[in-house]
Amino acid sequence: MDIVKTRKELDAWLAPRREQGKRIGLVPTMGALHAGHLSLLEYAKPLVDVVVCSIFVNPTQFNDPEDLAKYPRPIERDIKMLRQAKCDLLFMPEAGEMYPEGDPDWHLDLGQLDEILEAEHRPGHFQGVTQIVYKLFDAAKPDIACFGQKDFQQCMVIQHMVQALGLSVKLAICPTVREHDGLALSSRNVRLSDAGRKQALALVDTLQEAKARSRSMPLAQVVDEAIAKLDGSEGVRLEYFEVRDAVTLGEIHEVEAGQSAVALVAAWVEGVRLIDNMLLD
Ligand code: AMP
Repeated sequence: MDIVKTRKELDAWLAPRREQGKRIGLVPTMGALHAGHLSLLEYAKPLVDVVVCSIFVNPTQFNDPEDLAKYPRPIERDIKMLRQAKCDLLFMPEAGEMYPEGDPDWHLDLGQLDEILEAEHRPGHFQGVTQIVYKLFDAAKPDIACFGQKDFQQCMVIQHMVQALGLSVKLAICPTVREHDGLALSSRNVRLSDAGRKQALALVDTLQEAKARSRSMPLAQVVDEAIAKLDGSEGVRLEYFEVRDAVTLGEIHEVEAGQSAVALVAAWVEGVRLIDNMLLD
């Protein structure tokens, strides 16, 4: 695996391969890699000729400076994992490379996606996400880019950006990879103690219960019971639990025939903000 740190080096590495007709896959990450990230790489491999992984802890998407400061950065371990996973190229720029002085302000109209759920609780987060993902797309010009369903709203935001800006990249949304007990893998999990990790299981347990109950119970009741369970879970501070239309993320009161619904949750455990989601059908 080669490693490049500047856009110029990235372009010099990719341009000849692109000219040879090779298809390029991009897996954008913030590092502290785990099996979830590697699953995106594995997803991309058979679809493309060259897999590029980027590691960049993007400051503009953090609305909480403490979260940014505490974000894990085990770069040597990450490099080892990517080599083992046979990633072709790692792009790991410094902040100044992605945000040079005089960089123009960024704002993309994301409609209600920028007002609900994550956006409501993390103002500006999706502006930062779209800003960096646009920069990465612009730098790598991938044919395909892979994202995890774990960040459900993020996937929809990026889909929205690709459509709104008429970008030619194809997006692949990959399933959430979980621990054996169901906990969604997340780089932030390393900040949990063993006890906190157990408390965090309340999120996936509640999602699973909601999924089972949604087959026989009115949606409002499913949501009320999920909220009551999470509010009563020791060590868990709930931010939101909602069921929404899985295609638009619009509000729904009942799941109509042919409609797809998703339950989404965000909560704090031991000062760590965790998110998860599950399709109900
Ligand atoms: P991050 O490094 O957290 O920004 O994540 C980079 C990419 O990996 C995003 O597309 C995430 O949605 C995806 N990802 C994170 N956790 C998981 C997981 N448990 N399963 C699948 N994909 C994931």
